[in-house]
Amino acid sequence: MKLIDNLYGYPWMGTGNNCNSYFFANVLEGNSPHVIIDSGHITNETGEQCLSNLIKAIETDGFKASDIGLIINTHTHIDHYQANHALQEITQKNSSANTAKKAQIALHEEAEHYRKTGGARWLQIYGDAINFEPDFFIKEGEFSLGKGGSKLDLQIIHAPGHGPGHICVYWPKNKALITGDIVFVASVGRTDLPGGDGDLLKQSIEKLSEFDSEYLFAGHSTEYGWMLSGKDKVEHNFNFIKANYFPYL
Ligand SMILES: [Zn+2]
Repeated sequence: MKLIDNLYGYPWMGTGNNCNSYFFANVLEGNSPHVIIDSGHITNETGEQCLSNLIKAIETDGFKASDIGLIINTHTHIDHYQANHALQEITQKNSSANTAKKAQIALHEEAEHYRKTGGARWLQIYGDAINFEPDFFIKEGEFSLGKGGSKLDLQIIHAPGHGPGHICVYWPKNKALITGDIVFVASVGRTDLPGGDGDLLKQSIEKLSEFDSEYLFAGHSTEYGWMLSGKDKVEHNFNFIKANYFPYL
């Protein structure tokens, strides 16, 4: 669904686990112009067809998943990247312009190290889906994609605590913060998995709260929702988390 300008959101609506995906349409030059943040599961633990649902939702908005040129992963938990390789195959085989161009994959170097050194071994039931290689690493700081009128200027925020090399994405033009698994609506990312660290998570949340955000788009939904609209609501959410979660982190 359309969120703001060319940003679309695909919140996971199933009963099992999967992440929410975010999609910037028509950013990159060439025949594969779309950018997706977190590809999610192909199939989750309850057998739901997460990737098929995502592809259909993208089509409903008038785009083709096969025209994705870049996949960004907020972090390397498999519910955020299992579909990376499958999406790459789709882009290679089916792109509209038949250019057979495989989508690139970008993430933080520490997230890739974590993935490669077995940090995510708790997810081994999905082990055979981990066959992708990143094309480049993303660092904290300004991150621009595309050129001319479709140029997208983002800010990458390194936000560890839930897992090594976790990044969040801030879009200054619309004051939109894509938080991955650091902050949810009235909740925070878990710290009990390998590589989790409560002190680091608190520091990351403090850092995120300093951004001037009108919108918050989370990596998972809670019973209270998956996004917030309005500076006061975003601020209230950070204050709620600091008051209610920080003592336990
Ligand atoms: Zn996660």
